[in-house]
Amino acid sequence: MANIWSTEAWAIVIAACSLMLLGEMSGNWFFAALLTLGFYIAWLYYRLLKLEQWIRKGTKVSQVYDDSGFVGVIIRQLHEQKKTHNQRKRHAKRILRRLNQNISALPDATVLLNSEFQIEWCNEPARYLLNLRSPQDLGYKLNNLIRDPELLAYLNDPESEDAIEIDSPVDPDITIQVKIVSYGGRQILLIARNISDQKQLQQGLKNFVANASHELKSPLTVVLGHLEMLEGEKKLSDNGRRSLQTAQRQAERMKELIEGLLLLSQVESSHLEPGEGDRISVTELMVNVMTALEKYPDRDRVSLEYPDDLFLLGVNVEIEGICINLIENAIKYTTPGSPIRVRWTENFLGEYVFSVEDRGPGIEADEISTITKRYYRGARSRAATAGSGLGLAIVKHATNKHGGKFSIESESGKGSCFNVTFPSYRCIGAPAPVARIADR
Ligand code: ADP
Repeated sequence: MANIWSTEAWAIVIAACSLMLLGEMSGNWFFAALLTLGFYIAWLYYRLLKLEQWIRKGTKVSQVYDDSGFVGVIIRQLHEQKKTHNQRKRHAKRILRRLNQNISALPDATVLLNSEFQIEWCNEPARYLLNLRSPQDLGYKLNNLIRDPELLAYLNDPESEDAIEIDSPVDPDITIQVKIVSYGGRQILLIARNISDQKQLQQGLKNFVANASHELKSPLTVVLGHLEMLEGEKKLSDNGRRSLQTAQRQAERMKELIEGLLLLSQVESSHLEPGEGDRISVTELMVNVMTALEKYPDRDRVSLEYPDDLFLLGVNVEIEGICINLIENAIKYTTPGSPIRVRWTENFLGEYVFSVEDRGPGIEADEISTITKRYYRGARSRAATAGSGLGLAIVKHATNKHGGKFSIESESGKGSCFNVTFPSYRCIGAPAPVARIADR
């Protein structure tokens, strides 16, 4: 500090001496002061100009302007700051390079997107799984490069699903699972992995179950037929009759399980185009459904509300499966006597919603996403009722196949409402006014 002010003090002393000398020599003190001040100001401006040029050129150390006065102090401060900044930048670059190397080495395709779905970065596996190349595709919108409606819907609402499965744009025989994670508010991380082997294994397993169920159905029908014949046998002892009834009950359970497996495999094995399907009268459908539920003596607590003139376009046995499973669950999982409300109502989009509402034990929030998985049974249900865990899986897959939406609203201890929304192109016939629905 002393050094700066000594330089500045020397400059003032020299200026004062020059002023005295010039004043004495010329006798014109005004002219002498003007000249001295002019020189002093010009010297200051020269130093500031050099400083400005050095900053403009990027404060390069090799071109540092050395000034021993206050300008020198500014330069030294700037230089120190730049050194710290450069060190931090080098450190951040090292971390970023290491991170990039690690992500690039991942076997899964990893893509970073901004909120507009523009690609900011992608690794090598993204090339052979998603056909995305870096740096050529950077800046392009992902939904323009991969045209898949399911992926677009998932990008717009990542909370709607845990992950989705799509065909790889590189090879349609490759199935990829795509998962989206939003981070930092507006950034999106997309991870895609090849699950073809897993899918093949699953398919093999499904085929095996479907074939085995098919093979079991005929012998079981024969066994049931013989048991029914034996039932009419008059000479049967009481013990024999009890055994026969037990055998009949167990065989019926097996038949239901096999029928469930076969229906699920039928739902999954074929695709349904929007204009395809049988013309199903909802009135007839509901009559058939209630007939199928005759084995439940208290089924009259089910109240039905539906428009007479509604027809659906779909696969009869699959839509029947949806209705039977939901109503049967409501009967099975609620206390006898508690009301069950079954309705077909039209929403503001012209879609029809089939809903089954009960006042049973309800479902815990964290269990809702699990109960639609095949073979899943709630802990309480396992102990209290018979079942296969296939009912809601059938409902979910059959609804998806018909282009519909399946949703569950439930509050533990208060009851549940299961909704199946059929798209308007599947609801044919004159839509009934809502007032008539309530009238029934
Ligand atoms: P299953 O009825 O054979 O167990 P589902 O797939 O139909 O199989 O149902 C799966 C599980 O969902 C059931 O085990 C039960 O725990 C739960 N669940 C289904 N419907 C209801 C309902 N209406 N109320 C309470 N829990 C239900």
